[in-house]
Amino acid sequence: MTMASIFSKIISGEIPSYKVAESEAFYAFLDINPMAKGHTLVVPKEEVDYYFDLSNDTLSKMSVFCKDVAKAIEKVVECERVGVAVLGLEVPHAHVHLIPITTLEDLNFSRPKLKLSKSEFETIAENIQKELLK
Ligand code: AMP
Repeated sequence: MTMASIFSKIISGEIPSYKVAESEAFYAFLDINPMAKGHTLVVPKEEVDYYFDLSNDTLSKMSVFCKDVAKAIEKVVECERVGVAVLGLEVPHAHVHLIPITTLEDLNFSRPKLKLSKSEFETIAENIQKELLK
């Protein structure tokens, strides 16, 4: 028996998260160590480690899900556009980073992360959720 990944525990609610969006197959929530306000992770509910091991069907549906979330992030956070990154070096459960960016440096993962308060996280997540409902 394999242990549920930290992201599966987030999806099931066992570990709290600042949820942004959810569908039958995907879950989006704010990264706890954000590179920028609105930095969001999109995860398939299916627990697969490596992004490129996801099925073509899941990958294409995940892209469309990411697009909808990114369009909502753009409206809530001031940025030039939303950058996309796939790393998976830390958490072995496939996920996409959606990061509001203005310059190349905004996608530098080695930079110190932002420290946000609980209420800042809550407000950002709520505002993105509201945009998605429009
Ligand atoms: P990576 O696997 O390299 O793509 O990085 C995993 C990302 O997940 C990092 O940016 C972490 O800050 C983020 N992360 C890890 N645990 C949590 C958590 N409990 N809630 C939100 N984000 C998390």
